[in-house]
Amino acid sequence: MEMNALHAVIVPYPAQGTINPLLNLAHLLSSRGVFITFINTEWSHRCMSKAADKDNDDHNSTSTFRFLSIPDGLPPDRGRLSNPAERVIAIENLGPVLEHHLRCGLPEGTPPITCIIAESFMSCTLQVANNMGVPRVIFWPMCAASSIAQCNSNLLLSRGHIPVKVEESKRADKVITCLPGNLPPLLPSDLCSFYRTTDTSDFYFQWFLRESQFQSKADYVLVNTFDELEAPQTVSALSCNGCPALAVGPVFLPNFLEGKDVSKQASLLEQDESCLKWLDTQQPESVIYVSFGSLAVLSNEQLEELAVGLEKSEHPFLWVLRMDIAGGTPATLPEGFEERTKDRGVIVKWAPQVKVLSHTSVGGFLTHCGWNSTLESMSMGIPMLGWPHFSDQFLDCRFCKDVWKIGIDLEGVDAGENVVVRREEIEKGVRRLMEGKEAEELRKRGMELKEATFKAAGENVVVRREEIEKGVRRLMEGKEAEELRKRSMELKEAAFKAVGEGGSSFLNLNRFIQDMMQLPNGEL
Ligand code: UDP
Repeated sequence: MEMNALHAVIVPYPAQGTINPLLNLAHLLSSRGVFITFINTEWSHRCMSKAADKDNDDHNSTSTFRFLSIPDGLPPDRGRLSNPAERVIAIENLGPVLEHHLRCGLPEGTPPITCIIAESFMSCTLQVANNMGVPRVIFWPMCAASSIAQCNSNLLLSRGHIPVKVEESKRADKVITCLPGNLPPLLPSDLCSFYRTTDTSDFYFQWFLRESQFQSKADYVLVNTFDELEAPQTVSALSCNGCPALAVGPVFLPNFLEGKDVSKQASLLEQDESCLKWLDTQQPESVIYVSFGSLAVLSNEQLEELAVGLEKSEHPFLWVLRMDIAGGTPATLPEGFEERTKDRGVIVKWAPQVKVLSHTSVGGFLTHCGWNSTLESMSMGIPMLGWPHFSDQFLDCRFCKDVWKIGIDLEGVDAGENVVVRREEIEKGVRRLMEGKEAEELRKRGMELKEATFKAAGENVVVRREEIEKGVRRLMEGKEAEELRKRSMELKEAAFKAVGEGGSSFLNLNRFIQDMMQLPNGEL
């Protein structure tokens, strides 16, 4: 490797939804000759190594691609996913540890670091990049529209659009038109669900506002979208002080097309490939794939409704039931459900999702509309039945339905209707608020506020079996399903074109590398 080669340090947020796209980006840059240092927290690294094929652990560094894991400051045995607020604070304070590890002697032959590519919520990288005199590149793992709304949170606050009052989503005078980028008018319910609260001191509300100030300080911006989906003028609204802002996605797609299984390498959970064999036995476009990503939690009551809805829809299904899908409690399904559906249903704990979506037997995706899942489904031409749970998933769902027309939703879910708040829950809430131990104040507060925001975001909305059955049928049968499939195929073609040689994302990535090469260190 030449000593004047580019050396990009890539820093994902330690969560599946950002490790996936950033590891894919890392491979795209590496295949264009960029030296990569990929940063994981020790927790992520442990999960990835555990999930990887034991005979073929892909996490060993090579001479041009280095994995570096750093402590996140929390005790090793502390549950990262069950203590999210605590983890947010630890990650916000990760800067000095990251800088120490980056300065700690590069292996011989490694070119000097030329840029830091940080996920958009890794604000701790700003000081590190400044101290080291290298440009900070922000990578947005959300669609451009959600990213624009997020980085303009203070504008939305000053115009009274946040905190979000979901019940006002149907009022014409509440439509949001003040954002840059020529976005279609947004509804209050499109905004990130962490802004749905009546309490502005809410932990997540404050965290997202805080991050927005750092998100407007980048030297270069990359977005996991493509120009044919979201116009360049939309993407360029993410520019900071005139810096370039380019769409380079879907970043998983070129690797997938080349047969590189990066999503397996990035996976924090072991992928169960046995479901692919089952898919081989099914009719083309007959199976509905059901998954809610890596974080969403469903109550056991909700799981029962979902199970019965799937059963009644009579379509073959492949359902991802993560071990922690029901939060801390084991997931329970209706009695006899697995026996009754064994001829047409398969349940796995974690799937090779991209391979599943690309399988010819899959005809629809019941999804939480995380941006990676949305892009993966879109790129494979699979129409979606959207069931958003939190964060940016509401906007993705609505855009799939109203703007890109490749999906439908479970009507009434995002408008906060049908909310069942039970008496036990109210009692529990009051008790938790009033009876906690002082020593656990911070953690407890984080958890309580998380529950409150998740509740506001519709987590306690119980979607009934009839609605699920109806949604699955609409997605899989008849004229509407045909139209959706046609439109999905058109977008699939556009995504393939964008990442192929000479396509918009392909050229944008080349331009990014060129720009980085031409700059003297730290000056953009
Ligand atoms: N995923 C997977 N196997 C599964 C479910 C999900 O590999 O069984 C991957 C999926 O391909 C996607 C990521 O996990 O890349 C989830 O990201 P997304 O943004 O969709 O949702 P999040 O987990 O952030 O809510």
